[in-house]
Amino acid sequence: MQSSILHTPLVYLKGVGPNRAEILKTELGLETFRDLLQLYPHRYLDKTQYYKINQLKDSGADVQVVGKIVHLKTVEQKRGKRLEASFVDETGEIKLVWFRGHKWIRENLQLNEPYVIFGRINKYGSSFSMPHPEMELLKEHQAGLKISMQPIYPSTEKLGAKGITNRVISKMVQQLFLETKANFGETLSTLLIEELKLISKADALLNIHFPKGQEPLAKAQFRLKFEELFFIQLQLLSKKVARKKKIKGLPFTHVGQHFNGFFKNHLPFELTNAQKRVIKEIRNDMGSSAQMNRLLQGDVGSGKTIVGLMCMLLAVDNGFQAGLMAPTEILAQQHYSGLKDLLKNTNLKIALLTGSTKRAERTFLHNQLENGNLNILVGTHAILEDKVRFKNLGLAIIDEQHRFGVAQRSKLWHKNEVPPHILVMTATPIPRTLAMSLYGDLDISVIDELPPGRKPVKTVHRFDTNRLKVFRFLKDEIKKGRQVYMVYPLIQESEALDYKDLMDGYESIVREFPISDYQISIVHGQMKSQDKDFEMGRFVKGETQIMVATTVIEVGVNVPNASVMIIESAERFGLSQLHQLRGRVGRGADQSYCILMTSHKLSADAKTRLETMCRTNDGFEIAEVDLKLRGPGDLMGTQQSGLLNLKIADIVKDNPILKTARYYAIQTLKEDPKLENQGNLPIRRAYAQLVKDKAIWGYIS
Ligand code: ADP
Ligand code: MG
Repeated sequence: MQSSILHTPLVYLKGVGPNRAEILKTELGLETFRDLLQLYPHRYLDKTQYYKINQLKDSGADVQVVGKIVHLKTVEQKRGKRLEASFVDETGEIKLVWFRGHKWIRENLQLNEPYVIFGRINKYGSSFSMPHPEMELLKEHQAGLKISMQPIYPSTEKLGAKGITNRVISKMVQQLFLETKANFGETLSTLLIEELKLISKADALLNIHFPKGQEPLAKAQFRLKFEELFFIQLQLLSKKVARKKKIKGLPFTHVGQHFNGFFKNHLPFELTNAQKRVIKEIRNDMGSSAQMNRLLQGDVGSGKTIVGLMCMLLAVDNGFQAGLMAPTEILAQQHYSGLKDLLKNTNLKIALLTGSTKRAERTFLHNQLENGNLNILVGTHAILEDKVRFKNLGLAIIDEQHRFGVAQRSKLWHKNEVPPHILVMTATPIPRTLAMSLYGDLDISVIDELPPGRKPVKTVHRFDTNRLKVFRFLKDEIKKGRQVYMVYPLIQESEALDYKDLMDGYESIVREFPISDYQISIVHGQMKSQDKDFEMGRFVKGETQIMVATTVIEVGVNVPNASVMIIESAERFGLSQLHQLRGRVGRGADQSYCILMTSHKLSADAKTRLETMCRTNDGFEIAEVDLKLRGPGDLMGTQQSGLLNLKIADIVKDNPILKTARYYAIQTLKEDPKLENQGNLPIRRAYAQLVKDKAIWGYIS
């Protein structure tokens, strides 16, 4: 019954009406009673305290003071007039100031009567002032209904202009509580409520909108945040269970000659502990009878490729083929030559398939794939084409997944009768907190250790005006035999403009580094892929010392001799992109450098990005900052953002609550997978309601 009231359109709430209902819908997306109930205030003004004037601080906070107006005067100023009042209590005096509405104020304010004033304190010379205070006679204040903490609701300019002020919204919420009799059903089990010492759902809703003080507010916030995250976790976990049950996998039970032989005889270095641990995790996963869907996270240079290779060898040991898909031609090429080199003393067959693979070779490859002669196929999204059929694809690895859409990933599933195991590798670390929420349905492995002997890249920020000094530094590095990247931004909306920037830059570089003394490569998006590969190849082989490029080199490219990365107009790059680019250097034994070049005109966010880059090399830390700057929706693209449309919890700040919620969601489902126990009835009902409202997707049967 309660839920049906909550589905009532807002137009039926007393005091709303069709016009307001329409604006609330377009501006805040509110349609029903429930939506309004879940429009949680995003901050509160604390009216539980009364300050004495001599206690006031220059803090910019909104405060409440009791006192009297002893004097009122109009002051002429350059444009118009202002009205000034002297407001005193027994400890001192402040000025109240109005720039508008003088007439009304003059006629209504009473001198020498006790008032409660409320507003923001400004320092004004040696004394304090409060512009446009809220004023209430003390005797009315004492008689009135006290909302001790005033909620501030999300608002928009248009709402304000249409008279739907914060006060009006607060009134609507009060009306909602009246009409529903605040009879909101419980959504969690008694067990959880007692164990976590939560307040009831009804109390939480009351206190989130009308808190009586800091303490009840904190309890209400905790309860509602916990609940929100709990149901998301419940959903993700049950989805995972459902998937594990339904999707049978290919059990790789066997560890055979290819894996063991490679490990013993061909591994060019000792694996790090993190690599070993991750290989074990993947091995266990692929050894079970369910399909693996795993995300492998590891910072740039952490050595994901070798892990991928070892897993592919496991597939081969179990009689299957394996595929590795990379987002760009250059990267696919590099993976191919790297893997081919690693496998040169084995009898495994490996091939490369990209958009530029010649027709004849392509036909040959197709045959080899279908008759099973080919063990490992490396390629770009060309692998996904329907014509490309495997005899028995057992494992598909996707490198740098953020470049691939989910649709493409699912195409891989259909490359085999029983879907292959899927391993997604990414160096764009998704903060753990976010990964847990977004990919609760994927298993996650993390390589959290770099191979030994790496020197962290030194990162500095330089202004364009210091360019000559930077060029001198480059010449020194090149003299030592090192190579240098110079990267220009690429903004998709204006390829022509980017091209011009790049070419202008290139010309000035050629002037500074004359062709007679220096060899320069250039790679950009408007070149044919053969030409790109040719230029890239020259740089890889060390025939050129400088690589001028747009961000096409962002991902994966490995030239250990390159020791300097210059990023032009660095303020135009996102944090994860900057980090990726920086990952192109620091791959050899020498000290490497990343120089972020910018003009003097920098936004606050840009400053934070640059400062973060100079401070840390830790991809996870960078991802956390990125998340804070951009918000999760933006970070992940539209596909996942719906999931993170959280009403109250903050996925970054509320990480501890998220962990608690996840823990209890796991416990709950472990004890009662279908939520059939009497005690879990409230959870079951609430979950079903969320599914029905499409606030969440349903998986619990
Ligand atoms: P990413 O995780 O960025 O894909 P790569 O797999 O390209 O990193 O590895 C980066 C470099 O580190 C490669 O040259 C690789 O050979 C090397 N490498 C990987 N693992 C180790 C290790 N355990 N010890 C030493 N070098 C390693
Ligand atoms: Mg890589």
